[in-house]
Amino acid sequence: MNRATRTSFLNTTLPGATAGALLMLVSAVCAAAEDVGTYQVGAASVVITPKVADDAPPVWLAGYGQGRQAEVLHDDIYARAVFVHDGRFGLAMVSCDLIGLFRDDVVKIREELGRLQLSPSIDYVLVSSTHTHAGPDTLGLWGPVGRTGVMPGYLEQVRTACVDAVRQAHRDARRGTLRIGTADVNHQAELIGDSRLPKVIDSQLTVIQARSDPGQTIVTWVNMPCHPEVLGSKNKQLSSDFPSTLRQYLETRFGGLAVCNSGSVGGLLSPREPKSNPFTNEPLPEDDIGRMMAYGRIIGRIAEGALDKAEPLNGSIRAASRAVLIPLWNPFYRLGGAIGVLQRPMLDASGQPVKMPQAATATATASTPAVGDLYLKTEISLIQIGTLQIAAVPGELYPELALGRFQEPQEPAADFPNAPLEPAIYPLMTGRFKMVIGLANDEIGYIIPKSQWDWSAPYAYGRKERQYGEFNSCGPEAAPRLMAAWRSLITQK
Ligand SMILES: [Zn+2]
Repeated sequence: MNRATRTSFLNTTLPGATAGALLMLVSAVCAAAEDVGTYQVGAASVVITPKVADDAPPVWLAGYGQGRQAEVLHDDIYARAVFVHDGRFGLAMVSCDLIGLFRDDVVKIREELGRLQLSPSIDYVLVSSTHTHAGPDTLGLWGPVGRTGVMPGYLEQVRTACVDAVRQAHRDARRGTLRIGTADVNHQAELIGDSRLPKVIDSQLTVIQARSDPGQTIVTWVNMPCHPEVLGSKNKQLSSDFPSTLRQYLETRFGGLAVCNSGSVGGLLSPREPKSNPFTNEPLPEDDIGRMMAYGRIIGRIAEGALDKAEPLNGSIRAASRAVLIPLWNPFYRLGGAIGVLQRPMLDASGQPVKMPQAATATATASTPAVGDLYLKTEISLIQIGTLQIAAVPGELYPELALGRFQEPQEPAADFPNAPLEPAIYPLMTGRFKMVIGLANDEIGYIIPKSQWDWSAPYAYGRKERQYGEFNSCGPEAAPRLMAAWRSLITQK
């Protein structure tokens, strides 16, 4: 409906005074929406650090092997929220310093925010995780063998924090403008590496900054495709890993709040700490904590450089999602579901809940688990802020599925000869700026091109054993299903 139609509707159906007042209101809303360069923007941060102490329940650190108990707190972890409204559409984005959250928690956060009926509207809520490997277990996989690693009541605490962060960001929203810049993190040195074959790296850092009318920074938001895991598998300190000093650097430099997301981290893309800081030439400390902190500051400096060349981000906000059923092949996930370590609904092909543990135990240990008897429900989303398009992907996307850069011809020992290549994220985007947010609204593990899937011997690249990724993936049908949904979402078919 355009403005002329609205005006005539109001004039003909309402008494004069009411119509006049409403007309002013409509004009004000339209003016806000048509003033494409300004938004209402707010940001807020809520601590989600669990207590690490002898008199508190053990905190099991997520990532790597099981049973890694936190001994001490290094830096607080957070749920950080950004709220942006363009006069018509309100977008809330939360980033948590966590390994991941299952979709059920995200749905509960959305339901709670929906109940609050805030104005201006919150029309879409994205909840993502940075995937820190020094944070508490929120998925259940990293407790002592056979037991969930999730602390009692902790997920509820996280959900409440996410809701509170969005409420505060919404309450504090003020008129502001956005600017956006990008940088190649690997421009000077390989700071993001890939530890598997084929080596495919997405090294694009994107930074978006919101400033208020008087020129104060409201929020600086950084997206980067890299596992936050400088601290490594022997670490026993609770931490957000390098996002801690990355955010600190930007908050000191610009003021306001800094927020980090992780992009397409599958593959797996992880930090490569240089011997010395490429900006100051200072040698990096030897110890893990010192290197982690220095690495965050280096990335902060790269984000600052991207902002030096930033351009205005204008235009309307939109978001849309597609629900997807992913066949659950992974024998370890099935076993985890069967014994209650992995707590999320498992479904049949029609999306109806399947009673556990019978369905999973029968096939959990089979050498070739079935594809097509158990499913997980997840979602993929497309968010648009003016000339920026964002794919919100529910796990750890292999970078080839973001870039459309597949190994061709296919590796001869791969399991599915002639498997079709999936539609990829960036090639289908038309926006000037393109970005993937990984671990978004769910964590379903690695999303691997089917043409590269390699579980059965002989193994690809002449390897003597399987690669790591397949152990942490729902299965070979995850990428085809998810990327088909992506194509349907972005082409509106
Ligand atoms: Zn990972």
